Amino acid sequence: MIADSAVELYAARLLVYSCAWKMENKVGGDLRMEVSMVKLFATEMVGRVVDRAIQVHGGMGVTKELPLERWYRESRIKRIGEGTSEIHRQVISRGILRGFYPYNPFEKVG
Ligand SMILES: Cc1cc2nc3c(=O)[nH]c(=O)nc-3n(C[C@H](O)[C@H](O)[C@H](O)COP(=O)(O)OP(=O)(O)OC[C@H]3O[C@@H](n4cnc5c(N)ncnc54)[C@H](O)[C@@H]3O)c2cc1C
Repeated sequence: MIADSAVELYAARLLVYSCAWKMENKVGGDLRMEVSMVKLFATEMVGRVVDRAIQVHGGMGVTKELPLERWYRESRIKRIGEGTSEIHRQVISRGILRGFYPYNPFEKVG
């Protein structure tokens, strides 16, 4: 569980950096779809990570002795504010159906 959370946190960080880099360097054109991907992934990921952290701590995880139960409540809100997960999924799927995708899997690298 610790490894799964570490991988997901790392993935979210890279998504944020990639999108921020494109914005700062004004590459990639319309980034709305990528912003939606970042927001959707990061807010759903943090819920999974906090959930695992509670599980790892057993009963202690849901007591007020640890901040985890508060993080659980606070992170849950993130899937609603600033565009719900469903609306971001709509933005992403609409973009894909219109032929946009931020990454070409067949593109040669290096
Ligand atoms: C802590 C917090 C802070 C907030 N701060 C602000 C703020 O500062 N400024 C502000 O303007 N608003 C703020 N909001 C409001 C927030 O933006 C709305 O709650 C959010 O947009 C969802 O709208 P709603 O609550 O009316 O739900 P609804 O629009 O009624 O949606 C209910 C559910 O249906 C889903 N849904 C709706 N339409 C579709 C669709 N077409 N397809 C699939 N599913 C759909 C939604 O994803 C959601 O799960 C805040 C909310 C919270 C919880």
